[in-house]
Amino acid sequence: MIQMYNVSKCYPNGVNALVDVSVTIEKGNFVFLVGPSGAGKSTFTKLIFREELPTSGQILFDGKSVTRMKDSEVPYLRRQIGVVFQDFRLLPHKTVFDNVAFAMEIVEAPRRKIRARVPQVLDMVGLAEKAKLHPHQLSGGEQQRVSIARAIVNDPLVIIADEPTGNLDPETAQEIMNLLLSINGRGTTIIMATHARDIVDNLRRRVIALDGGQIVRDEARGGYEAGD
Ligand code: ADP
Ligand code: ADP
Repeated sequence: MIQMYNVSKCYPNGVNALVDVSVTIEKGNFVFLVGPSGAGKSTFTKLIFREELPTSGQILFDGKSVTRMKDSEVPYLRRQIGVVFQDFRLLPHKTVFDNVAFAMEIVEAPRRKIRARVPQVLDMVGLAEKAKLHPHQLSGGEQQRVSIARAIVNDPLVIIADEPTGNLDPETAQEIMNLLLSINGRGTTIIMATHARDIVDNLRRRVIALDGGQIVRDEARGGYEAGD
């Protein structure tokens, strides 16, 4: 699904955020990206949806070069990738329904398709009853469910989640993890950057550990730290 070959990223200020990273993430993988602040986790994810370009190296997404693709092809790449953030990033003046619908409007889905699809996805994340509310009327966990609904509404191949449980209490975090696991169970590849040691240690999924911009560990059923 995603292949990186000798990928390095040096920001204009001279920071080497990633150094010679080579890795393959297969379709259906659930991957935890771990490592201290500044290790390069966010940069790693941004390179996948072409928020940033690498300084050198090659990245393939579903067999297609992310680095060589034309600007006009970037929207097609992004349609295949749902992104979830720690701070939800919902539109405050839109309802739950409209926040999710907006992701379909951006890709110019027909209105009848939007009207049919949004309730399905809200149902899946357990928010069917809250479609008409605004984000400020929801708990943090519910807001994160809206952002997950928005991420999956266009049926992406990959979900990238950057600290999706970072603002949630442990119980709510576990509910969000269950939702991500059920999405993964349907074949969607998930890449999740996290500092949540207990979640990583309990789930025993693939762990890619970054430090100083390099992959220092890659285990099929890893813990948060080597030896965990
Ligand atoms: P992490 O997500 O693991 O905290 P990041 O990928 O955000 O790591 O950052 C890796 C390094 O790159 C850090 O030293 C950070 O300060 C630097 N960095 C990140 N984004 C930028 C940017 N846009 N411009 C300059 N330096 C950046
Ligand atoms: P069903 O599977 O019967 O269509 P569900 O309640 O299980 O209904 O799912 C509700 C909606 O969520 C469906 O339209 C389904 O396609 C969508 N959905 C479920 N999992 C994913 C996923 N991983 N990515 C995108 N959409 C999904």
